[in-house]
Amino acid sequence: MFITKPSYTILHELDRQSLPVRIEYSGRICYKSEDRIDETSAIPFVRKMADYGHNSVLEMGVITFRLSGLSSEQVTAFYRCQPKYLNIEIEADNTLLITGSIRGYREMFVNHKQNDVTLALTNFLGNRHPYFFETVCRPEQVDAPKNIVVEKIELEQIEQFEGDRLALHRYLGVRFIVNRAVTHELVRHRPCAFLQESQRYCRYSADKFGNEVTFIQPLFYQEDSTEFKLWKQAMEATEKIYLELLETSSPQAARTVLPNACKTEIIVYTNLAEWRHILALRTPKNADPSMREVMIPLQQELQGLYPAIF
Ligand SMILES: Cc1cc2nc3c(=O)[nH]c(=O)nc-3n(C[C@H](O)[C@H](O)[C@H](O)COP(=O)(O)OP(=O)(O)OC[C@H]3O[C@@H](n4cnc5c(N)ncnc54)[C@H](O)[C@@H]3O)c2cc1C
Repeated sequence: MFITKPSYTILHELDRQSLPVRIEYSGRICYKSEDRIDETSAIPFVRKMADYGHNSVLEMGVITFRLSGLSSEQVTAFYRCQPKYLNIEIEADNTLLITGSIRGYREMFVNHKQNDVTLALTNFLGNRHPYFFETVCRPEQVDAPKNIVVEKIELEQIEQFEGDRLALHRYLGVRFIVNRAVTHELVRHRPCAFLQESQRYCRYSADKFGNEVTFIQPLFYQEDSTEFKLWKQAMEATEKIYLELLETSSPQAARTVLPNACKTEIIVYTNLAEWRHILALRTPKNADPSMREVMIPLQQELQGLYPAIF
């Protein structure tokens, strides 16, 4: 068995990559197959995710658009269709600022009544990133209304937004290495997108996991204490049984003996407004100490990056 400390990484740099690269990096966390990433792997990977309908992976690619030149009727028709999971703001007279994930845009097209705005967005995105849309439409055949100008907003421009606009449209991913109890709490934050290492899929007896189970060091016990020794004894016994079960059964069956202390990786992806909400709940004294262990330093780092928001 291996014991490690919890940690987190803000995925700034990932946001500067293309949509397929971002989505592949995040998606491979589930299978711990990051070793398969190379210069050509992203598009086949995301195409497979779209084909399989592994839609939550497509939530990890977020993109912002400004739509201008619209008529009031076109704005109204778009609002009436009420696409879920898109952040929509009227920036100025008949100019819309829209932020959403590839999943959000795909489902806007599939599930909602079409109107000029949904057609303009699908045409723009689908022609640039056909692999996301080819299972639901032929984007070149989706007519874009001529009066609507669709402009993709780059990250550098979003970073220049202020106040609520920055909080709403700036999405940020954080990769946590924590125990399973902490991720169970994290996934209660509903507006976020999550991807997590799969214990159903990962076989910790394999070479790539060092043939062992990794546990997160509990902050509750000093390393030389009786309690820590008891805790370690319990983890060793559990690992032994888990590895024995794997000899005759699948990871999803064997994992049923694994405890909360198991190390897991998760990417939490959401906008700054939701990060602010999460930190307000997860840093005070009444929050879980194991959660505070990663959230307090994360809050400090975010305060440095976005002082007006945090
Ligand atoms: C100290 C602490 C102790 C806790 N103890 C327990 C416990 O004992 N048992 C337990 O089950 N949970 C517990 N929780 C989890 C808690 O109940 C929430 O599920 C979790 O904190 C997510 O917070 P949230 O619901 O405010 O926000 P999020 O899920 O992060 O949602 C953010 C915002 O989205 C909006 N929103 C999202 N979904 C909806 C919706 N369906 N309807 C309306 N508005 C929505 C709300 O405006 C909300 O403020 C605890 C949390 C903390 C911090």
